[in-house]
Parts: sequence; structure tokens; C-alpha cells
Amino acid sequence: MSSGLTTAAYLAAGALFILSLSGLSHPESARRGNLYGMVGMFVAIVATVSMTAVTNYALIAPAMIIGAAIGLVVARRVAMTAMPQLVAMLHSFVGLAAVLVGFATYLDPGVHHPGEVERTIHEIEIYLGVLIGALTFTGSVVAFGKLQGVIGSKPLIFPARHWLNLGLLLASIFAGYWFVGANPGLGLTMLLAMTMMALLFGVLMVVAIGGADMPVVISMLNSYSGWAAAATGFMLSNDLLIITGALVGSSGAILSYIMCRAMNRHFLSVIAGGFGATATSGGGDDGEQGEVEAISAEETAQLLLDADGVVIVPGYGMAVAQAQHSIAEITAKLKSRGVDVRFAIHPVAGRMPGHMNVLLAEARVPYDIVLEMDEINADFPGTDVVLVIGANDIVNPSAQTDPGSPIAGMPVLEVWNARTVVVMKRSMATGYAGVENPLFLRENTRMLFGDARATAEAIQGAL
Ligand code: NDP
Repeated sequence: MSSGLTTAAYLAAGALFILSLSGLSHPESARRGNLYGMVGMFVAIVATVSMTAVTNYALIAPAMIIGAAIGLVVARRVAMTAMPQLVAMLHSFVGLAAVLVGFATYLDPGVHHPGEVERTIHEIEIYLGVLIGALTFTGSVVAFGKLQGVIGSKPLIFPARHWLNLGLLLASIFAGYWFVGANPGLGLTMLLAMTMMALLFGVLMVVAIGGADMPVVISMLNSYSGWAAAATGFMLSNDLLIITGALVGSSGAILSYIMCRAMNRHFLSVIAGGFGATATSGGGDDGEQGEVEAISAEETAQLLLDADGVVIVPGYGMAVAQAQHSIAEITAKLKSRGVDVRFAIHPVAGRMPGHMNVLLAEARVPYDIVLEMDEINADFPGTDVVLVIGANDIVNPSAQTDPGSPIAGMPVLEVWNARTVVVMKRSMATGYAGVENPLFLRENTRMLFGDARATAEAIQGAL
């Protein structure tokens, strides 16, 4: 393929990626957005492998076939609940790729630069690419472990870690100073030393971030993986990789900002980590002294039928139980009886941004009854029944009442202001942030114990 044609294909792919992102910003256009992304990626791959510089098809073809086969199997098999882990793992691959490309480019004897300036720029590109790639790699692997439950969700804090981080940063800058313009032997040593430090920094950064702060970390790593891809693009002089990396990097940064705002947290204090490790109380101590009152599925069905207005609050447990289809049926039944049913979505509900919206869209719940936290929080006092399905942290009143709580200050759905709250979960266990929830002891709360799918089907049957 001529270079002109490649440029045209790259431009088309870049435009498709932008259309894809804009489509993904709303559930109604998300499918179209995905389609644009898929077509864009297809065009990008075909254009890249058809470039005149690409000759070694004997290696590329099997790699592509194996990669595509693995991707297909993983995508078909992965449960919706394991999606966040998968995304974290894919981020780690982008980071690792940036590291490998960085080393390969540095070691490639075929790369000649006509001038000193070009060489310096190229070496800085390599250094930054490997740095971002290495910390994205280990950071994402730790995030994967935390989301998978292999590593505990509590922040792992040790003394003087800020000093250690600062030391690593200064040492990396120092190694970079020696790396640029060095002879190959010294250069490689400096590059290796910095890679080790960046790998360690990635681990230290993410192990220190705990519980409820994880959504910010996921979006932050998403952003880093984009910058790592952009750096790879610079190293390989590939314009489309630069554009794509910048799109992912900046959209991830915007998402991190949205998540921080949703949780009322400053980005820097999230990165500094340790949130929740030094809490003075477990969160259940906001003066709430009550009894747990259980309710049956039949009684819940009756409550719902008697209500004029019902708000459903889904959380991670709905995803685990795959209860969204039964919930959609319940919604349809109640609506046909004239009950006003709406959904309230907290920005960090579930385990990834937009998790609940995806599940509700899958169950074909109409978009116009799915509302964001800010749109619905003021309506709870006028609501007859709130049905909380597998949600915990996002409806925890101690975020407002207990300054010592690990989730103090995080905006939550104020469901307790409704007349009756029915909480569907299996036990009195805590949620992801590990904080006791005094909502369960409130006078107007009823606990419907059991797997959310089984209890939702029981309510559906009773209706
Ligand atoms: P939580 O993790 O707070 O609570 C989920 C609840 O669901 C648990 O208390 C559990 O209780 C219940 N549950 C689990 N399985 C089932 C089941 N099969 N049937 C019924 N109930 C079940 O979830 P929320 O959605 O309320 O909050 C999300 C949390 O995750 C926040 O702390 C957020 O910061 C964090 N997070 C969010 C990310 C994001 O991007 N959205 C990413 C990473 C973390 P029980 O065991 O008693 O059933």
C-alpha cells in the first residue's frame, strides 16, 4: 500500500475512533459507537500490515491469528462481572507492549538519526514510553489482582512510602539524564534501571489505593495505557497510534476527573493513596441502633403493588446475581399496573464506569427511566418504596454522618429518605469498601435476604 493510501486510511480510522468515543458517551448510541470502533480498528490493522515497510508476514500472520483467536474466546467466555478485571489486564498488555517496543527500538541497529537533535528527541521518546509503559503494566496487574479478589481491597500502607516514591522519581530523572546521549552500554543500563524503578512504582502506587477509590485508579490506568500507546506511536513514527493513544489518554483523564467529582475526592489525594486505612470508625457507628427486620418476597411484592412511586437502586450484587432480566420484568409488570418506576444510578455502582447502565440496557430497560444520582437524589422523600438490589457502599448514610468513615464525604444515594427501603442481598456483609452500613438497621429498612436473582424471581412470581 502506498504511503498516501496509508495516510488516508489512518485519517479515516482516526475519524472513526472519534465517532466511536462520541457514540459511547450515551447508552442509546453506544452500539453504534462500538461499531465505529470496530470498523476503525479493522481499517487501521489492514492499513498497517499492508505498508511497504512490513514484509515479515510469516511472523505477523500467525501472531494475528493466535491473538484474534484468544481475543474471541476471552470475549465470549468472560462474565459481565469479570469485565473490570479483563479491562485491567488489557491495560497491562498496552503497558508491556510500550516497554518491549521501547527496548526493541533502542537496540535496533537499523535506526540511524541524521542529527544530534533527532537522536536526543528519539531517546527521550523511548525513555518516556518505557517509563509510562512499565508503571502502567505493574499498576494494572495489581489492579487486576484487587478486582479479582486475589489481593485485598484495603490499602497497603507502609512508613516512608512517600519518601520512597519521591526517591524513585528523582532517581528516574537522574537515570534519564545519563541515558540521553550515552553510549549503548551505559544507555541500556540506565534504561534497565529506570524500568525496574517504574515497575516498582506501579506496584507501590496501586497497592496504596484502597476500597472505594478503585474506580479512579481504573480510569487513571486507562488514561496511562493511552499515553503509553501514544509514546509507542512516537517511537515507531506511527501517526495513528499517536492519535489513538491521545484519544484514550485524554478520555481516561476526563473519566478520572468525573469519577473524582462523583466521589468528592481530589485526584492527587487519590494518587497519594491510603484512603480508608486510618479510619477512626468502621462506619457503622453513626448513632444508628436498631434491629434488622427481614421481609419476604411476597410482602415485598405487595409493598410494590401498593406504591405509587418506586425507585430501584442496582449495585454490584445485581451484576453478580445476573438479576437484571427479572428486575426488568418486575418493572414492566409494575408499570402496567400504573406504578411509577424509575432507576437511580450511582456513578461508581458496580465495578466499572457505566456497569449498571450496560446491564439495564442488556435487559432492555427503557433509558428514559434510568436516572443519574444528581437527577434523582432530591426525589427520595416523595418515594414510597426503594428497592436496593445488591448495592451497599453507594447507599451508605455513614458517608454523610460519620466523618471517621472510610467513605466520608462520598456522595451517596439518599434512599433512607423514602418511606420504605427494601434491601436485597445475601447477608449483612459489607461492600467493596469494607464499611458497615447503618442503613440496614434503620426503622424504615427491610432486608430481603438471598441471592438477588432468586429473590427477584420470587417477587416477579408473587406479582
Ligand atoms: P458494593 O460492593 O458496595 O456492595 C455489593 C453488595 O452486593 C455486597 O454488599 C453483597 O452483599 C451484595 N451481593 C453480592 N453478591 C450478591 C448476590 N448474588 N445477590 C445479592 N446480593 C449480592 O457495591 P456497590 O455497587 O454498592 O458499590 C460499588 C463499590 O465498588 C464502591 O465502593 C466503589 O467505589 C467500588 N468500585 C467501583 C468501581 C467502578 O468503576 N464502578 C471499580 C472498583 C471499585 P452480600 O455479600 O451480603 O450479598
